[in-house]
Amino acid sequence: MTEKSSPFTKEQLEAIAAEVPTPFHVYDEGAMRANARAFYDAFSWVPGGFKNFFAVKALPNPHVMQALKAEGLGGDCSSYGELVLCEAVGITGEDIVFTSNDTPAYEFQKAAELGAIINLDDISHIDYLEKALGGKLPELLCFRYNPGPLKAGNAIIGKPEEAKYGFTREQLFEGYRILRDKGVKRFGLHTMVASNELNPDYFVETAQMLFDLVVELDRTLGVRCEFLNLGGGIGIPYRPEQTAVDLAYVGRKIREAYEATIVAEGLGPIKITMECGRMITGPYGYLVGRVLHKKAIYKDYLGLDASMANLMRPGMYGSYHHITVPGREDAPRKVYDITGSLCENNDKFAIDREIPDPEIGDLVVIHDSGAHGHSMGFNYNAKLRSAEVLWQREGKWRVIRRAETLADHFATLDYPGLS
Ligand SMILES: *Cc1c(COP(=O)(O)O)cnc(C)c1O
Repeated sequence: MTEKSSPFTKEQLEAIAAEVPTPFHVYDEGAMRANARAFYDAFSWVPGGFKNFFAVKALPNPHVMQALKAEGLGGDCSSYGELVLCEAVGITGEDIVFTSNDTPAYEFQKAAELGAIINLDDISHIDYLEKALGGKLPELLCFRYNPGPLKAGNAIIGKPEEAKYGFTREQLFEGYRILRDKGVKRFGLHTMVASNELNPDYFVETAQMLFDLVVELDRTLGVRCEFLNLGGGIGIPYRPEQTAVDLAYVGRKIREAYEATIVAEGLGPIKITMECGRMITGPYGYLVGRVLHKKAIYKDYLGLDASMANLMRPGMYGSYHHITVPGREDAPRKVYDITGSLCENNDKFAIDREIPDPEIGDLVVIHDSGAHGHSMGFNYNAKLRSAEVLWQREGKWRVIRRAETLADHFATLDYPGLS
């Protein structure tokens, strides 16, 4: 069970709304940082050190990345733009892991220029990378392993054998052999087999799978991995009846596996890394919108000024996002479909959701928008991207991205009267 209440009062949100147009996303910096510290605490035992590379796609705002950098997080990038964001924040070198698929040469070149750890998605990318970098591979390379039928899948990524990512087991061994023969000196091993996974044992099994592979790579090829990357995918309790992953438990169990495998085989120290995004920022973001309309036809609808363009997860995956109405906690409850204004019937934040019945004009808070919220936003129906606000404490908050204007939206059109 997870307590799902807005950390902000109606008055605090109205104070922001007096200066920032609704809808907006607001992020709780203190809670985000405390969570990052708890994550690092759970892995403070790792002899080779622990690092989480924040998956930038979850919340690509440099102000947030700066705060996470201060907590020791690096950046996980999968595109040129994400690399540039890291560079601007001062996350460079091996504090970046570039985990990309279907990658164009210029993105590999940018990653190499920044000294990022390049994590290849396919065996054919060894040659592609070598050519892109003018015939010379970096001294450190990492491969993404796709265990296929050897590992059960999870709901968002699906079965590993149907996922487009990574090397097969045979390709993995062949790939490291090629790297070794080409004179690459330093190696890492990566996998990412889960997304939004709440079962803590899943991550322990993933770690065990990689520990076993590290031993096998050492024994069969003499390739020594200096780090493992367990990927991201730690889930968050979007629903009140769900429980957050117990990070301390995961850390403890992975330690047991490390000792029973890596230490027992006389290997190590090995650095353990992850590239979680969702669990770093997801629970600490809130999309705030205002009730515009109530409509009673075959069903009851609550119409907000926010739409799927601000948070597409419910429309795209049918995801649950908890919704509260600050200041109306004790109001009589009513069942609504809670909608935005797009000309798409899946522009619904919730279907048949019972909430305290708001009044028109009330602010409504849609929880867990801190990952894949603003970043997955779009401009369909000429809707403008919203502002983002960073909340530090009572009375101390700042706009970290202003709301888009129509001039921003039309800026790429060369047409009289538009820009
Ligand atoms: C999306 C992604 C992540 C982050 O996943 P979360 O679910 O946000 O933890 C990490 N690595 C790769 C390669 C990804 O594509």
